[in-house]
Amino acid sequence: MEYAINTFLSGTVLVTSDCIRHKSKRATCRQCIDYCEHHALSLTENETVAVKAEACTRCGGCVFACPVMAIEGPMPQRRAEDERLYQDGESIPSLKELLLYYHEGYRTLILDESHPSWMNIVEEANTFLHSINKPPFSIISPSLNNNDSYFKREDSAIKRRRLLGIGLIQRYLKQDELPKNISLAEVFKPYQQFSIDVSTERCSLCGSCLQLCPAGVFHYQDRQFSVDTGKCVGCRLCEASCPEEALSVRPDVKESAVSSYAFHAALCPRCQRRYPSLSPDEHLCPACVVRERLRFSTQRIGMNSLNFPQ
Ligand code: SF4
Ligand code: SF4
Repeated sequence: MEYAINTFLSGTVLVTSDCIRHKSKRATCRQCIDYCEHHALSLTENETVAVKAEACTRCGGCVFACPVMAIEGPMPQRRAEDERLYQDGESIPSLKELLLYYHEGYRTLILDESHPSWMNIVEEANTFLHSINKPPFSIISPSLNNNDSYFKREDSAIKRRRLLGIGLIQRYLKQDELPKNISLAEVFKPYQQFSIDVSTERCSLCGSCLQLCPAGVFHYQDRQFSVDTGKCVGCRLCEASCPEEALSVRPDVKESAVSSYAFHAALCPRCQRRYPSLSPDEHLCPACVVRERLRFSTQRIGMNSLNFPQ
């Protein structure tokens, strides 16, 4: 099957406003920066991501390294033929990119096993596939690959075939849309990639995770706080932005399930007002907690200014 390179996206790498660092100052994501081996991406003083054009090789790998597909740019160019993916291209694929090829049917890699970076990512992909009960990538050494007609003909049709797009993305583009939120969780349903631990003791049901999560993982409904981990893309924005440090995101590949936590009308022992709570134990309501913190910090400021020992 022939693939044409994606001509919809520009040749320039652009970090769009979908980057979660534009949504919250507390975001910690730097997956694109860590991915780019040419150091073409870096953090600005404002903690947003900048692209250094002179260092960028336009390999396109960062487009897939971003968990929320916030980077626009060229698609990575990879060689593929007859369900075989060849080790070449300017960049090592990210886990998501490699597994998207697997999903599109490219399950054999023509790969030099002494290449550590490729082997690391293939091992990571095979661990993921093992966890979801799918066969791993098989690897054939380039010297044993008998499918070499591909390399013997250098006509323009062959050159075009070398530019492998991803069918999934091509389909999005046919609908005239940018490929947003393509995640492993979405492609490999019903499996999740991450678990989210909720501390019912700490959660104050402030709703910041609901507002910020780019994947729609959290919901409030019928006195239930529910967490649909199958949708999580692992950006960790919820964990970083939760004011109570009540959420913790960790890699955990398994069948996904929606966790629900019932909340009830608790009575604040200080102000005697009712407030929604997940915890069965008696606690101050969020407003009294804030007052308490303010009182505490005011006391500390007072003590510091008088040079009192703390
Ligand atoms: S990987 Fe995506 S969301 Fe994360 S910092 Fe880079 S552009 Fe932003
Ligand atoms: S649940 Fe948290 S880590 Fe997962 S996608 Fe939403 S904000 Fe990101």
